[in-house]
Amino acid sequence: GFNLRRASMDPVLRRAAAASPNVTLEAGATVTDLLRDSRGRPAGIRARLSSGEHRELHARAVVAADGRDSTVGRLARVPARIHENARFGYFAQFRGVRLPNAAASVLWFGNPDMGYAFRNEDGITVLAAMPHRARLPEFKADPEGSLMGHLRALPDGPDLTDAERITPVIGRLRSPCTIRKAGRPGIGFVGDAAMASDPLWGVGCGFAFQTGDWLAQELAGPIARGEDETQIDAALARYARRHRRALAGHQALMNDYASGRRFSLVERLLFSAAARDAITARHLHTLGSRMRPPQRILPAALTRAAVVKARGAGSSSGSAGRGLEYA
Ligand SMILES: Cc1cc2nc3c(=O)[nH]c(=O)nc-3n(C[C@H](O)[C@H](O)[C@H](O)COP(=O)(O)OP(=O)(O)OC[C@H]3O[C@@H](n4cnc5c(N)ncnc54)[C@H](O)[C@@H]3O)c2cc1C
Repeated sequence: GFNLRRASMDPVLRRAAAASPNVTLEAGATVTDLLRDSRGRPAGIRARLSSGEHRELHARAVVAADGRDSTVGRLARVPARIHENARFGYFAQFRGVRLPNAAASVLWFGNPDMGYAFRNEDGITVLAAMPHRARLPEFKADPEGSLMGHLRALPDGPDLTDAERITPVIGRLRSPCTIRKAGRPGIGFVGDAAMASDPLWGVGCGFAFQTGDWLAQELAGPIARGEDETQIDAALARYARRHRRALAGHQALMNDYASGRRFSLVERLLFSAAARDAITARHLHTLGSRMRPPQRILPAALTRAAVVKARGAGSSSGSAGRGLEYA
């Protein structure tokens, strides 16, 4: 994959949205209310524009893309299920960091204290620590010293000899994982509004793009054909099923690790086999990049990892080039 700062990515997205046919961009507008029809079905939104003026927008379907604390979710009375996260995060951007290999992203699973290095555009590297909350008092007392100490202690960690910090050290003390049903009559939730995952895995932006695309695939046809609300609600229900089938398993795995526990035996088996077997590594890549639901990857991945372990260290390599097939 690759890493891009929001300061670079968001303007590109805004320009693309504004240039799309039939899109009117209202920058700085805040949704303040949900409109409903006589049966209580969502039928649009009320917004406060940047000018201070209030405006009502009527719609056959409302799309909530307003992040993990979704105001629209609250207004629609669709509460999210919340799963607490035992880790907190501190991070900053640097120039002049040298990393141990050419990968765009390096993660150190300290079990439970995590370390990260993300190479971004323009020679900038984001370095981060996500330790267990037991270490929060230490980080709160000295954010910069604790972050740098954590990074310097990482095995094969980033070389900070010529590193220059170019942003303040930012702390994110609480990142609960949330999920709500992604489609209901009259309303669809995408991105974090539907499901906010543990930031540890760096999947949120990918999920936001992916879920927006899935919703558009289901909804665009019925809307463009002028179909009635029954058809639109059927499209929203299809989207919700697709969202659940593809992502609920990933969220369950991520929630489980967000408890701050150590690796399970299964994870140790998978990671150790992936380090010496190209096929297990490919399975793990498919799982970690969330390309398929875990229930479709894990049976083949675990079988392979068990075979690698049974054969013993160094005896297996496999072909990384072949495609993997899942049931
Ligand atoms: C510390 C941290 C690190 C992360 N690191 C990564 C990473 O490395 N890679 C990755 O992929 N993801 C990462 N994520 C997750 C990622 O930021 C989110 O998953 C992603 O931003 C979700 O996109 P979104 O569009 O759904 O929501 P958001 O990006 O939160 O956007 C929601 C938008 O809705 C607007 N909004 C909210 N309420 C209203 C309202 N009432 N009216 C109008 N507008 C409103 C907000 O202003 C905002 O612009 C990280 C998250 C955290 C907390």
